[in-house]
This record gives sequence, structure tokens and C-alpha cells, in this order.
Amino acid sequence: TVQLHEIEKSFAGTDVLKGVSLDIADGEFLSLVGPSGCGKSTLLRILAGLETQSSGTVSIGGRLVDGLRAADRDLAMVFQSYALYPHLTVAENIAVPLTMRRLSGAQRLPGIGSFLPGSRALRREIATTVREAAEMLDIAHLLDRKPGQLSGGQRQRVAVGRALVREPAAFLLDEPLSNLDAKMRVHMRAEIAQLNRRLGATFVYVTHDQAEAMTMSDRIAVMMEGELLQVGTPDALYDHPADIRVAQFIGSPA
Ligand code: ATP
Ligand code: MG
Repeated sequence: TVQLHEIEKSFAGTDVLKGVSLDIADGEFLSLVGPSGCGKSTLLRILAGLETQSSGTVSIGGRLVDGLRAADRDLAMVFQSYALYPHLTVAENIAVPLTMRRLSGAQRLPGIGSFLPGSRALRREIATTVREAAEMLDIAHLLDRKPGQLSGGQRQRVAVGRALVREPAAFLLDEPLSNLDAKMRVHMRAEIAQLNRRLGATFVYVTHDQAEAMTMSDRIAVMMEGELLQVGTPDALYDHPADIRVAQFIGSPA
């Protein structure tokens, strides 16, 4: 379970999150929606440990994680701008979290050199994990290419693959499809939904796209100006929107 309790955040005196509480069940696919600037990315970054809340608590799997660095939380985050290492191959990009995890101290350079140390058995194990992830995402034929030789959708899948190999309890995706064309969005949408089912991992998915939220989610959290207006199943939000703003977003007739 991922639990956010009374999360508040202000930047230079401006309240961006005004007491957000949300429990997300194991294996649940929860979409976080709302207008630009309402605080979605900030909430996700706090959950990931990339930003510190002004007050409130975050727990993952029943454990308070407020003091923990991002790398020590059992989460993987995929951003809208999925920075890949341009000088590394697809396989090496996907393997970065695995090689980082196993190296320490001075050896811990991202990418470069990370393939030099380690036993042959370890390298084989990493190669197998990478290949499995790549096959799941249909990019196994691209493992030796560099990011510059890929389409946007393929790059996006490499970024998802890199999150996948960490086997996190939860995936946090912040508008991961916003750079893709309509056809690729539909395709990736289905793939991400399938990953959620196959892995049984929790997904928190930020999107602007109402159709995306309605079709992919177990529940949708509608956010406005730093507050959650309503959290519920797509059907519940559609049939019983808490207020006009939810109805407008969801597209309910009422
Ligand atoms: P979008 O849909 O456009 O991505 P969002 O819901 O993700 O929007 P956030 O990025 O969480 O919105 O930003 C919420 C508010 O906090 C915005 O008004 C933004 O300007 C402000 N904000 C975010 N990060 C910072 C920061 N580091 N310093 C100051 N203000 C910030
Ligand atoms: Mg955002």
C-alpha cells in the first residue's frame, strides 16, 4: 500500500498542495488527473522522494519513508522527458539501475564503466533480466542501438524498461505518453495496462487525457488547486461526480 497522509507543500509561501490524503492499494492502477499547475507532478515527486513535503507523511508498504532517499524507496518513476544516456546502448540504458545497485562508492558512475566490474555470472544475470524486460516491451531487437537511432515511442519503452528491471512495488508515471503520436499512445496505453496486470505492481499514472484515465484506471483521483476533489472508480466519477468541476473533467452529462 502507498499512503499519502495530509501532504502539504508550499513553494516560497505559495501553497501548492493543501492537505492531500490518498491510499493506493497494492496492484491498483490509479490515475491522477487535473488541470495544469494543480500539483500532480509535485505530489508524485514527493511520493518518489525527489521533493520534500512541508508537512504530512508518506508510507510505502506500511513503512514511513519520509527520511528515505529516492533510491531507497521501492519505487520507479518514469517522466515525461525520459532522459536516456545517449552514449549507451538500449541494453546498457535498461541495465543502469541493476549495475548501479550492485556497485558502490567510487565505482558508482552511471553507465560508463558500470559494465567493466562484476563477475561473468553477474553480467549474464543482468543480460537475462534486460532481455526479459525488452521482450515484454517489444524492443528486444533494438538492444544494441543507441537512443539517437530510435523513435520517440521506442525511447519511451526503453525508459519504461529501465523502470521495470528495478522490480519496484510501485511505478510512478508522469505523463509518460505525452510526447507520442496518437497511434503510439493507444499502443503504449494498452502495454502499460498489461504491465500492471502482469506484474501486479501498483501504478500511479498522471495524465491530462480524460480518455486515458477512464479506460486504464481502477480508480481516478481528480485534483484541483492542490486538493483532491474526488477519488473513485471511472464509473463512480462518471455517474456521481462530486461537483461540476469533476463532471466537466470526466465528461459526465450532468
Ligand atoms: P502540469 O499538468 O502542467 O504538469 P502539475 O499539476 O504537474 O501541472 P506541478 O508541476 O505539480 O503541476 O506544479 C504545481 C504548482 O507548483 C505550479 O503552480 C508550479 O508553478 C509550482 N511549482 C512546481 N515546482 C516548483 C518549484 N520548484 N518552485 C516553485 N514553484 C513550483
Ligand atoms: Mg506535471
